Amino acid sequence: MAQTVDGAKFAVMLTFDLDAESAFLANDPENAHRVGVLSQGQYGPKVGVYRLIELLQRKGLPATLYVPGWCAEKYPDAVRAAAGAGWEIAHHGYHHIPPASQTRAEEAEAIVKGIAAIEKVAGRPPVGYRSPSWDFSANTLELLSQNGFLYSSNMMDNDAPYLHPVSSSAGRIVELPIQWILDDAPFFMFSRPALRPISALSNAYEHWSEEFEGLYAERERGKIFVLTMHPFISGRPSRVRLLEKLIDFIRQRPNVAFYTCEDVARHFQAKAAKEGN
Ligand SMILES: [Zn+2]
Repeated sequence: MAQTVDGAKFAVMLTFDLDAESAFLANDPENAHRVGVLSQGQYGPKVGVYRLIELLQRKGLPATLYVPGWCAEKYPDAVRAAAGAGWEIAHHGYHHIPPASQTRAEEAEAIVKGIAAIEKVAGRPPVGYRSPSWDFSANTLELLSQNGFLYSSNMMDNDAPYLHPVSSSAGRIVELPIQWILDDAPFFMFSRPALRPISALSNAYEHWSEEFEGLYAERERGKIFVLTMHPFISGRPSRVRLLEKLIDFIRQRPNVAFYTCEDVARHFQAKAAKEGN
């Protein structure tokens, strides 16, 4: 179950985007015929996510799983396993099509279908939204408002939570900012035809641990640490070991706690309301 956020603690959020093969299909519809290409993404719900669940259960830590509705329908066991381990299940579009490339009607349909898919599989509608490829459209915020979302985790203009200028039935929409530097894909994503070297594990570790140290040092200013991973990338054994090493490093610091994004968003919204924002 969700923990209560202690405002005195620096908040760390481990987040996983369970894209499965949806991003490969959205990037190039021709990939529908490329069984081998699709299998790369399918590793996430078939194998990777279970290894990550096992790690976080062993560590006693929560996480947030962002899942496209289509993937939740295709891989319900993986989503239920995460929900059963106490992970928050949040919205990540329907077909993983970047909203900025959709019409307003297409984006609205994807959001509604994604909510229904998650509610059916996880037993509860999502309260958080992360757009496919972090490609927010000019309509996204209004659609989140209409669909009762509590928070968004999409923006790179800050590294502390803030309130968007719009409200939903859940109150003022909270932003939990992200950044590519705290994402596994820039380090480890490898697929043809864009061949490039796979980063050393130590490269990602250096970036992530130093980002943690810097944000932790500014914790009095409300900074947070949101790490974004993908089970098909970070569910590989070597990268699960990397995540464990990072968790152990983070836990050496006093006054740090791991939360779901929902817990942090609720805490931040309540605190902002109390302060009259
Ligand atoms: Zn994604």
